[in-house]
Amino acid sequence: KDHSVSTIVTDAPSGLFQDEYGLFIDGAWVGSASGRTIPLTNPATGAHLAKIQAGNAADVSAAVAAAKAAFPRWARSRLEERQEILLEIARRLKARTADFARMESANNGKTIVEATIHDLPEAIGQFEYFSGSVYALHGETRDYPDLIGLTHREPLGVVAQIIPWNVPLLMASMKLAPALAAGNTVVLKPAETVCLTVLELIREIADLLPPGVVNVVTGYGQDVGEALVAHPDVRKVAFTGSTATARKIIEYAARNIIPQTMELGGKSASIVCASADLDEAARMAALSTVFNKGEVCMAGSRVFVERSVHDAFLERFVREVEAVRIGDPSHPETRLGAMSSRQQYEKVQGYFDVALSDGAEIALGGGVAHVPDLPDGLFLKPTILAGVRNDMRVAQEEIFGPVTSVIAWDDEAAMLGEVNDSRYGLAGAVWSNDIRQAHRIAREMQTGVVWVNTYYNLPRGMPVGGYKQSGFGRELSWDILRDYTHTKSVVIPL
Ligand code: NAD
Repeated sequence: KDHSVSTIVTDAPSGLFQDEYGLFIDGAWVGSASGRTIPLTNPATGAHLAKIQAGNAADVSAAVAAAKAAFPRWARSRLEERQEILLEIARRLKARTADFARMESANNGKTIVEATIHDLPEAIGQFEYFSGSVYALHGETRDYPDLIGLTHREPLGVVAQIIPWNVPLLMASMKLAPALAAGNTVVLKPAETVCLTVLELIREIADLLPPGVVNVVTGYGQDVGEALVAHPDVRKVAFTGSTATARKIIEYAARNIIPQTMELGGKSASIVCASADLDEAARMAALSTVFNKGEVCMAGSRVFVERSVHDAFLERFVREVEAVRIGDPSHPETRLGAMSSRQQYEKVQGYFDVALSDGAEIALGGGVAHVPDLPDGLFLKPTILAGVRNDMRVAQEEIFGPVTSVIAWDDEAAMLGEVNDSRYGLAGAVWSNDIRQAHRIAREMQTGVVWVNTYYNLPRGMPVGGYKQSGFGRELSWDILRDYTHTKSVVIPL
C-alpha cells in the first residue's frame, strides 16, 4: 500500500546555522585540538548544513579544567541568580521557538510540527520547571534529645553529560537544567550526527553563564567518551543513548567510582484489552509508530492485542497509519519526516528482512518511501508487522524506527509474562475500560512508566526512567536532583 507524500519543499534552513561551530570551553568558542571537523547534513535533503569540531582527549581535559575552576563560585552562587538564569534561558528559547524548531527539523529530519509543538515547549519547560527547584533543594533537621542532626544537599562538582541525536535540544535541556539548578558545572557531549540546536542553544545563552559553568565538546563517542567519563576530576556521568554504549560508559565510570544515571533503550508494550476503545487505542498506536519517526526510547513498539478484538484493532491501526503523510519535514502538513542518519535508515531497513524470515507478516509499509523532489532523503514507510511472536527479534530488539509489532494474546497472565519477557522496561500502556483490569495490569508491568488509556502523555514533573536494561535514575522531575547532589550529615551534640 502506498502513502500520499507532500511534494512542496518549503523554506530551506540556510542562514539559520553558522558555517562552522567550535567547541565551547571556558566561555569561548575554540577549534578542536585535532583540527578535524565533522560535516552535518539535512537527512531529508542530503544538503550540507554546517561543520562541527571532532573533539578529542586534549579538548576534554581543557573543558573539565574549565568546569572544575568554575565550580566553587557556581556552587555558592545565590539561588536567585541560578533561578533567574534558568528562567532567562527559557525566555530566550521561547522568543526563538520558530527558529529552533526549523533548525531541529533540518538537522534531525523530524517534522516542523513536532519540533514546534513538542520539542521546543518541552525543552523550555525543563528550564522553567527546574528554575523552581533551586528553593526546593534543601536539607532537613532531625532532632534528638541531646543533639541536632542536619542534612545538607551539596552539588557534586563537574558532571559529564552525554546525549543522543533523536531529541537533542530537549535532551540537552533535561540534562543541563537540573545539573545547573543543583549547582554543578557541566561538560556536555552531544551526538556527532545531530547537535546543531544544542550548539545554537549555547550561542544563545553564553552571555548568561559564568565561563566554565557549561562546556560543550562535540565529536565521536570513541574519541571523547572515555577521556571524559574516566577523567579523575569528573564526579558524575549522565547518559542517554543505547544500552551497548551504556555498558562502556559504566566501565569508564568504574575507574573513579563515579555515580551514573542512564536512560537507555526500550521495547515498550501497549496492551489492548477487549473492553478498550479500539479507535483511540489504534490512533495512539499510530502516533507512537510515527512520532519522531519512531526514534523514541519510549515508543510502544510492541502492541499486545486480545485475540477477540485483534482483527478489528489491526484494521483500524492500518487505516490510521496509512493516512499519515510522509515527506518534506519542513512542510506543515507532513506527519512523518526523514530518519536521522543513514546508519539509522539502513539499520531499520534490515529489520524488514528479519521480520519476514522470522515468520512475521508486513501488514503495512516495510520499505523505503520515495518522496518526489527529495530523492536523497532518508524516508521510510511506516510499518506494521502482524503475526509477531514475542520471541522474534523484531519484538525483542529496539528498532528505533517507524515499525510496530502486533502480537495477539488470549490469557492475561500469559500475556503479562510475555510483556515482561524483555530486557527493557521503560514505558508501556494498558487499554481497558475495566478499571480493575487496568490497575491489575499496570501493577504487573515491569516498566518505569505505565499509561492507562493514553500514550506519550507526560505532565511536567512526572518521573521517567527505566527498569532492567532501560537504565536507572528518574529524569524530568525533581527526583533527579538527588542524583546531582550529595547528602551531608552534620551532627551537633547539645
Ligand atoms: P549511542 O549510544 O552510540 O550514542 C549516544 C551518545 O553516546 C552519542 O553522543 C555518542 O557519540 C555517544 N557515544 C558513543 N560511543 C561512546 C563511547 N564509547 N563513550 C562515550 N560516549 C559514546 O547510540 P547510537 O549508536 O547513535 O544509536 C544506536 C541505538 O541506540 C539506536 O538505534 C537506539 O536503539 C538507541 N538509542 C536510544 C536512545 C534513547 O533515547 N534511549 C537515543 C538514541 C539511541
